[in-house]
Amino acid sequence: MGVMRTLLLKGSESPWLASHVAKRHFAQRAVRRFLPGETVEAALAAVEELRGRGITSVLTQLGEAIADRREAEAATAHYLDVLDKAQRTDLSTQLSLKPTQLGLGLDAGLCVAQAARLADRAAQLGTFVWIDMEASPYVDATLDLYRTLRAEYDNVGVCLQAYLYRTVADLESLLPIRPAIRLVKGAYGESPGVAFVRKADVDQNFVKLAKRLLSAEARQGGVRHGFGTHDMQLVARIRDFAEGAGIAKDAYEIQMLYGIRRSDQVRLSAEGASIRVLISYGAAWFPWYMRRLAERPANLGFVLRSVFTS
Ligand SMILES: Cc1cc2nc3c(=O)[nH]c(=O)nc-3n(C[C@H](O)[C@H](O)[C@H](O)COP(=O)(O)OP(=O)(O)OC[C@H]3O[C@@H](n4cnc5c(N)ncnc54)[C@H](O)[C@@H]3O)c2cc1C
Repeated sequence: MGVMRTLLLKGSESPWLASHVAKRHFAQRAVRRFLPGETVEAALAAVEELRGRGITSVLTQLGEAIADRREAEAATAHYLDVLDKAQRTDLSTQLSLKPTQLGLGLDAGLCVAQAARLADRAAQLGTFVWIDMEASPYVDATLDLYRTLRAEYDNVGVCLQAYLYRTVADLESLLPIRPAIRLVKGAYGESPGVAFVRKADVDQNFVKLAKRLLSAEARQGGVRHGFGTHDMQLVARIRDFAEGAGIAKDAYEIQMLYGIRRSDQVRLSAEGASIRVLISYGAAWFPWYMRRLAERPANLGFVLRSVFTS
């Protein structure tokens, strides 16, 4: 892992930096590139704008590792309101939930109860809920959460991270329950004991997992897939493989983050691909934004420009 990436990921865990930097005007300006705003109204406006370009969306309110039960319940209440607001404005959007925001770090039962309320309401409204994957100590509990939800609901999916060695086995263990899987590279600072460090190794594992997800056996078994990446070489390899296997372009989703590779999102959608964009919003953006910087330290240039232009 590069020195800058390591420093940025360490910084993402610093409460001191979060409380001092997040208030600064330059940081707020820089983050706007990836965040339509702090309110759900700003996020829904982004959903509408993307819809105009044929791109679907998934919403997530920033926030993780909460301190008490009331915060988990407040996050659930917030998301129930978001589902209703989206419904009232005739906007179809999915949700992406961080298990620790729903209390996974405090009490797994609390988290299951919150996530089930959201999956239930989303099912009534005909929409879908994704479970994010956080740092490696949470993987077992997150997969348990997913299995519990999947036993009750069809409209739930889970994220798997290609950088973890264990993911190949996790994917195999999920296939029998007809999962929906969002495959990503992984955004946390993991040790070489649990995760590939070299980009080439992560990419190779991503392609291997993607091919498994798109295999005839997995598709006949009822797997649904989203490939969450801005890596255009990977996107091309997935599309080539799918085309070779006779899989329609819109039978799987390419998912990207709001504000990253916008022109590719529009181009791929115009070419008939199914593109879904994850829109983050909310005030607790600091650790999330630091992870985005760590993915591409060149983004620090935007932060520096914001310092000098604010
Ligand atoms: C829909 C979605 C959901 C996700 N959910 C999770 C999750 O639940 N858990 C998790 O650990 N991770 C999640 N991630 C993040 C993911 O793990 C990666 O950290 C992130 O997508 C960057 O990896 P990449 O595949 O785009 O490839 P990279 O090799 O990192 O990037 C490829 C290229 O994309 C562009 N790019 C990538 N990131 C940025 C950036 N921040 N700013 C500007 N350009 C950039 C650059 O041109 C770069 O060269 C999610 C990502 C997406 C798209």
